[in-house]
Parts: sequence; C-alpha cells; structure tokens
Amino acid sequence: MTGHFELTAPPMLSRATVVRDELVRADAERLRAGWSEATLIRVDPRGRVAIQDGVLLRAKATELGPEPLAEAVLLGDDEGTDVWAVSVPWLPAPEGGRVETVELRTDGASLSATDAALLVTVTALLGWHAKAGFCSVCGAPTEPEVAGWARRCVRNGHEEYPRTDPAVICLVHDGGDQVLLGRQPSWPPGRFSVLAGFVESGESLEACVQREIGEEVGVAVTDIHYLGSQPWPFPRSIMLGFQATADPSDPVVPRDGEIAEAGWFSREQVRAALDSGDWTGDELPLRLPGSVSIARGMLEAWACSTPGTSGPRRVEGR
Ligand SMILES: [Zn+2]
Repeated sequence: MTGHFELTAPPMLSRATVVRDELVRADAERLRAGWSEATLIRVDPRGRVAIQDGVLLRAKATELGPEPLAEAVLLGDDEGTDVWAVSVPWLPAPEGGRVETVELRTDGASLSATDAALLVTVTALLGWHAKAGFCSVCGAPTEPEVAGWARRCVRNGHEEYPRTDPAVICLVHDGGDQVLLGRQPSWPPGRFSVLAGFVESGESLEACVQREIGEEVGVAVTDIHYLGSQPWPFPRSIMLGFQATADPSDPVVPRDGEIAEAGWFSREQVRAALDSGDWTGDELPLRLPGSVSIARGMLEAWACSTPGTSGPRRVEGR
C-alpha cells in the first residue's frame, strides 16, 4: 500500500487516561473513606471549569458536604486521590480574585495531559446526565448511582449507562502528494478538513468510511486503515481516525447540504496551512482545524510522512 502513514503523537484529548475502577465506584464505604481527601472540579452549564496558573482548579470535595453527593460523579483516581466533579449554576470566584475559566473544545490542547483527560471525562459524563433524566423504557424519572456511572429508573429499575456515539473521520489521500478535503456549508471560505460521519446502526467502521466518503464527495475509497481515536463529547462522540486511498482522477461531487465544496490539496499547501496555526492564515487558500481535533493530528502526520514509505519522515537530524 502506498502513502500509508501513522499518527506521530496521540491526539490531544487522548494523551492520558483517568484511572477508572468499576469496583471502587460501587463500593459506598470506600467512596466515603476517600471523600475527606478527595478533590472536586466544578463545571458550569456551559461546560466551563475554573483554572489557576494554567491548571484545573480543584476544590476540596468536603465543600459539598460530609460525604459523596448523589449528583457528584467520580472521574477516577489521580495519583491516589479520588477526583469528583459536579455541575454548578456558576463557578465561585477564588478569594480576592476573578475566576478564570477554560472549556474543552477551545482550550483542551493547552491543558496538561491529565487535566485534558479529566475535562474530557467530565464533559462526556455530565453531558450524559443532563439528558438521561428519564427512563427510555417507561418514561419515569431516573436517579444516578455507582458514583455517576449509571442511572436507574425509579419505577421499573431499568439501568442505563453513559452513551458514546462512534463517528469515523478519514484522511483520504492518493498514495502520493495529494489529500482530499471538504468544507462544510457553515464554514467560511478557505476552511477545510478531512471528511467525517456517524456510524449507523448495524454498520462496520470500514463500511461507514466507504459509505460516508461516497455520500459526501462521490469518491470510492480503498485501502482503509485505522489510525487512532479520541473522545469528542460534543455532545457524545468518539472520533475513530482512518486513512484511505482514492483516485484523484475520479470526479469529486460534493453532496448538497452536507459539503459545500471539496477537492484535492497538495502536501505543500497543507504544510503551509499547518504552519500558519489553528484555523488561521486569512491570506492562505486553505485553513485547517485546531490542535484539539484529531483531524489536525491526522493532517500533521500525513503532511510530514513521505509517500511510498510506511512511517513518518525523519524530521530532525541525528
Ligand atoms: Zn422505567
């Protein structure tokens, strides 16, 4: 296979994992015992959290009360300390100061690996709770349990778990120096990215890649290979990154309503756009997604690979 490449770094929201322990979540005694030392992240209705000196501000969990609140969710264990999160109507300002905030979508790439991992889990989990208040079977209210990792119907006991919707995102190249990019109708002229779409019920990931690229730009792809993944809780996806090959002599037919325009771009154009920053470079014909997205990591990896080899080009001398 020609033009095959690998990601050169983990996607920004996949740099670290929160230590998850299903047994701890269900152990009320253990959770109470950890509460006095536990830390707490507050999240406002817009998904914003407070930071101080560039790191997530962690309050003491006991500020909420003497033991774990039903509405609090346990994110996991960070170096021996339980980290909880809770939704609040507004973020309290630190003593004598103004509250500085970040949110995942705009600031996730500037956070430390651990802070980004905590914030992506918070965003996904609290986003699910906000919409899972009623039983999908009978419509009765549900209540949180197991430290926020399930909800149970108060009437029939039906249990539901946090949902994640798979979506594929695929960098289509020609095996050489060209990449196929598309612009969504809501994006300004010049803003392009790799193509993506949701996995349908009963569909394999590979079939989804073929179908989505076919639907969006009318191009047939082959040589589909997995690259890596990143959670994308806006509202509740995981992006599954792929690469595939297509023939640039095939006509590109953007689908009405979904893709405003699409076409092949050269490696040089992509490198110039990446060098200019996130979604910036007004004078350039091409602007590419921000660092927080897996799309950018895929484009960066492709841009620094050499066609016909199976690995990133050596960038630094020995
Ligand atoms: Zn029910």
